[in-house]
Amino acid sequence: MATQHEVVIIGGGNAGVSLAARLERYGVRDVAVIEPKDHHLYQPLFSHIAGGRAQAQEAVRSQESVMPQGVTWIRDGAVGVDTDTNTVSLASGSSVSYGQLVVCPGLQYDWDEVPGLAEAVHSLHGASHYEFELAPKAWTLLSGLTSGTAVFTMPAGPIKCGGASQKPMYLACDYWREQGVLDQIRVVMVQPYPTVFGVPEIDRELDRKIAEYGIELRTNSELVSVDPAGRNAVIRDIEGRCLVMAKNLVPSDVQLEITQIKSAIGGKQNQRDTLRSLGLKRIGQTVVRTADAVTVGMLNTVPHLVKVEEAK
Ligand SMILES: Cc1cc2nc3c(=O)[nH]c(=O)nc-3n(C[C@H](O)[C@H](O)[C@H](O)COP(=O)(O)OP(=O)(O)OC[C@H]3O[C@@H](n4cnc5c(N)ncnc54)[C@H](O)[C@@H]3O)c2cc1C
Repeated sequence: MATQHEVVIIGGGNAGVSLAARLERYGVRDVAVIEPKDHHLYQPLFSHIAGGRAQAQEAVRSQESVMPQGVTWIRDGAVGVDTDTNTVSLASGSSVSYGQLVVCPGLQYDWDEVPGLAEAVHSLHGASHYEFELAPKAWTLLSGLTSGTAVFTMPAGPIKCGGASQKPMYLACDYWREQGVLDQIRVVMVQPYPTVFGVPEIDRELDRKIAEYGIELRTNSELVSVDPAGRNAVIRDIEGRCLVMAKNLVPSDVQLEITQIKSAIGGKQNQRDTLRSLGLKRIGQTVVRTADAVTVGMLNTVPHLVKVEEAK
């Protein structure tokens, strides 16, 4: 026979646990939370783990310790809801009936939406702090970077805390500046919206930091594919224009627009020579070349000094 509770909450994450506590405080005496996991993860801290300011273990609590006093914890997963009989069926085969039901199982990530992304975040050169297991790796990669290109992306559509996609970037920039390597790193932030955050007061402050760190902010743009083996990322803007962020570009007959975005002064001699061979003499100058083997070879020598887009 099904157990019965006045209020049943599916999911003991931040939402489920907070709601259960509030209901208890308001005098609802029979609240149950269905949550299969033994451990509760405090996700906002993932950004700080990836930014090198917190340890992974700090984000973990036993589920028991975060369950509000007086609330029944049903250590199970919900697999179905029958709204005619007010019953939730559970993975274990049993069921629980409710007076009121609240559903808060969180969001699931769809890594496969972007070709190559699932593989990329598990590769040697990619990570995502949206997954607890990968957040420490993000900091290992960021803190180990002394030159090259770092691409931070945020997808359009529903996402847990959009601003979180930027936090490790600012923390990493601060660290790179402290280490004296920020100038050698091209930092790119890809944003699907017209401004960096979408709130004018916050945009102003973030724009100030973006300028201070020399971050290349690409608004109205999205990551469309990743090639983890070649360490290439393709970003498309609202007009359909593709930016190719590449560790190792592959030759093709595509026409490329190549723009110098950073100075090579203080850099290596071969990088200064390469810019000159590409026909680039100053920041902001653009040349158009076919992506043949010679051009690709040169671009792969100066990936952090140039922006490469498919010519229209
Ligand atoms: C990297 C990162 C940084 C963030 N930073 C911030 C921030 O700075 N500020 C802020 O306000 N928010 C931030 N957030 C967002 C915030 O963490 C989430 O909004 C919040 O955790 C959502 O809570 P939730 O309970 O809805 O989902 P979750 O916390 O994901 O919990 C869902 C729970 O439901 C359980 N569940 C799933 N399916 C079932 C099922 N079938 N049966 C039973 N249980 C189930 C899961 O096991 C899980 O415990 C951040 C999120 C991330 C990922």
